[in-house]
Amino acid sequence: MNITIGHLYPDLLNLYGDRGNIQCLMKRCQWRGIQAETIAYELDDPIDFSCLDIVLLGGGSDREQMLVCEKLKEIQKDFKEYVEQDGVVIAICGGFQLLGNYYKTDNGTITGLELVDLQTEQGDGRLISNIVLKSELFDMPIVGFENHGGRTCINGNKPLGKVLYGSGNDGQSGYEGVIYKNVIGTYLHGPLLPKNPQLADWLISRALEKKYGKPAELAPLDDSQEKEANDYVYHRFVKKDV
Ligand code: GLN
Repeated sequence: MNITIGHLYPDLLNLYGDRGNIQCLMKRCQWRGIQAETIAYELDDPIDFSCLDIVLLGGGSDREQMLVCEKLKEIQKDFKEYVEQDGVVIAICGGFQLLGNYYKTDNGTITGLELVDLQTEQGDGRLISNIVLKSELFDMPIVGFENHGGRTCINGNKPLGKVLYGSGNDGQSGYEGVIYKNVIGTYLHGPLLPKNPQLADWLISRALEKKYGKPAELAPLDDSQEKEANDYVYHRFVKKDV
């Protein structure tokens, strides 16, 4: 078995160590004997989505998102087809915003990929905090760090999780992120995946299932350190009495 990860525009969208998410996916595949390779795309590179199993769209500043958004128009049709055919995507912060219809900032509106029906508008001040979520997908909480000026409305879509600590999509709804088909969008940096191994494995299993046509049983890994770190954050911010 093998997995190919497409990393979109790491030279522009790579805030807060999103590259660590790639390392995590690669390692968790390799430790199980699943071959893994990553293709990093620069803005002018053509992208053949049919050879990708997981796409990572990382975080970026408003300025970088503005630079990327013109390019996105060129790949929109192929990317949309990939998503509709159950392609796996993990989109973080600026990348999460770009999945949607638009991101309206004080300096102009950035057109999104229109892959998921959501939109973002810049609000007063930035939402900066450690953050803890409870997601229906996992028994472990999802932990991370958020830093965004945009407030995202996910319309009728499913959130990634309920906010137990922190601000989330808009600081008001009590929810964070989005799940649409095999796409996860989230504001959590961190990097996200080493801190949340169950989320990393969800992406890998969805990718294997899509590629090989049957539910993937992933061999368990020793996640004791990851669990300890996750648990520490959970108790530090949510369950302080234990
Ligand atoms: N520029 C976006 C915002 O501030 C996203 C920032 C990020 O990726 N951290 O909302």
